[in-house]
Amino acid sequence: MDKRKLKRAAELIDRAGHILVFAGSGLSAESGIPTFRGEDGMYSNPDVLRYAHADALREEPEAALAWFQKMRDMIDDYEPNPGHYALARICAERDCTIATQNVDRLLESAFLREGLTKEGIWHLHGSLFRSRCDVCDEPLEEPPTDYTAAECDECGGIIRPDVTLFGEMLPEAPYLRAQGAAHVADVVLLLGTSGIVYPAATIPGLARSHGAKLIEINPNPTELSEIADVVIRGKTGEVLPEIDRLLA
Ligand code: NAD
Ligand code: ZN
Repeated sequence: MDKRKLKRAAELIDRAGHILVFAGSGLSAESGIPTFRGEDGMYSNPDVLRYAHADALREEPEAALAWFQKMRDMIDDYEPNPGHYALARICAERDCTIATQNVDRLLESAFLREGLTKEGIWHLHGSLFRSRCDVCDEPLEEPPTDYTAAECDECGGIIRPDVTLFGEMLPEAPYLRAQGAAHVADVVLLLGTSGIVYPAATIPGLARSHGAKLIEINPNPTELSEIADVVIRGKTGEVLPEIDRLLA
């Protein structure tokens, strides 16, 4: 790891009035959750393309709901990795907006287990651990234990995970939050994201046009590398703990 770049990243974070974290599936990769486009990525799994599409809920709801149930139960078994914990420690004491494209809740778990609190972790593509009615949009306080057997108390509609499926729009509130943070952020941390899923991928460029410094942490080059001010080629589970140590 390039010590000079780590130091530069830590300095920028330390001096920042506001920090925007823009995270993607690479942040959870070291927990064991496959990324989207990696070698064993979810994109190569035909079930993902079939059931993570809005059409499946309309055309084959029972199969789609059974698949969501399987995904949620599977993802629930994973644990936060050192990158999640370090990020929680870095953000807890600082003015920081976290916008993640991930639908897991590993970052929330990391905050909780570190005994830290965070007002909001904004899920740009929703979360598998929240649910709502597919018909009237009514959110549920607790996701059902079994999606295939649940229905909406208000209208009898299907209960689905509150995630953005292919063919659907992003939820407005998290996107507006991330855009707002992009206007005021001094530093943006680009963590484990390829930067090719739109419209989320417009956020880093927006922040940069408002003067933010971009720090990319990713073992591979991405669409965002060119506009990043500091590029650290490494895994978030290894780099973020180093930065956290420098900040301590
Ligand atoms: P992506 O698959 O397009 O890109 C993943 C990026 O992570 C790549 O650039 C890769 O080089 C990098 N990466 C891999 N291992 C890493 C590590 N250990 N440390 C740091 N970086 C690492 O993912 P994306 O940009 O998040 O976009 C894909 C979409 O897929 C997102 O919208 C997200 O909603 C969804 N998704 C979510 C999860 C999850 O919730 N954990 C998992 C897969 C896909
Ligand atoms: Zn309903």
